[in-house]
Amino acid sequence: MVTQVAYSEVFRKHDNIGHPENSERTMVMMQAVYSSPLANEMTFIEPSMASEESLYKIHDERMIQAIKDISEKQNSWLDLDTYVCKQDFETARLAAGATVQLCDNVLKGDADNGFAVVRPPGHHATSKTSMGFCLFNNASLAAYDLMEQGKKVLIFDPDVHHGNGTQDIFYHSDKVMYQSFHLSPHFPGTGKIDEIGSGDGRGYTVNAPLSYGNGDGAITSLLQEIFLPVAREFKPDFIIVSSGFDSHHEDPLGGLRLTVDMFGDIIEQLSLLQSKIVCTLEGGYNLSIIGPCLLSQLGVMCGHPQHYQDTTMELRNYQQVLRDLKKTMKQYWDI
Ligand SMILES: [Zn+2]
Repeated sequence: MVTQVAYSEVFRKHDNIGHPENSERTMVMMQAVYSSPLANEMTFIEPSMASEESLYKIHDERMIQAIKDISEKQNSWLDLDTYVCKQDFETARLAAGATVQLCDNVLKGDADNGFAVVRPPGHHATSKTSMGFCLFNNASLAAYDLMEQGKKVLIFDPDVHHGNGTQDIFYHSDKVMYQSFHLSPHFPGTGKIDEIGSGDGRGYTVNAPLSYGNGDGAITSLLQEIFLPVAREFKPDFIIVSSGFDSHHEDPLGGLRLTVDMFGDIIEQLSLLQSKIVCTLEGGYNLSIIGPCLLSQLGVMCGHPQHYQDTTMELRNYQQVLRDLKKTMKQYWDI
């Protein structure tokens, strides 16, 4: 197995002490990776930037220009949550470029799978708006590239927040399927069961809005009964995972109760469907947990699954969501 990890120290330039999405996140994660025996099983690559032109494939000019302008002058805020640092036009394109590059390497056969340990994250960035700590949509840029090469892509999003940006970008497409579970109600407020896609894309967006306290049991049932059967029928040529670790039970911005092992389990189950998988980092804000969560996924990817002592009490009131989502998806898929 060749598992590539794309990371750069340049991501540290995007930083704001006191903001939960700060540069310590990837530092502790990479420390966890480097100090693990698993590091010998991976190849580390220095990513290169996505070109300015490539951003226009999924984002509009005003949004791109806004970040470019701030980036040339001084640190600033786009909204109450989302900061932009000097040189972020380069840093954010590096995060996108890392994700695109890993997908390219896996498609060419230079790697079996990969993980882009990047910042700033991407899944809240819509076609027109940077928001929710996200500047450009890293997963979507990579998926768009694959789509242009005739590939069908599944984007699976286990972050505790709904990836409204990714959903928005591919809402009309039957070439890129978006599947997400997330806490609801919660930021950004989207991701209801009846958000299923539009036009050709009807049935290609699958949303499971979960309740506070739902955990591994809910995810296991959703995977077995809905996400995987739908994806099996879709037959993706490639899977991109928006790896958010804020769905872990100890995350300060979360409310779901996944354990560390669940993150690896998700990769294991998806890889039975399609082994070409690239993960790109989204959220996850508990600095003592996100390292193990990353290793849980990397362990499965490089063929050395890890297991952690991590348990929690989860609430099991997810039957209604399971029933309603199944009923909705049955109209489009043979599940
Ligand atoms: Zn999140």
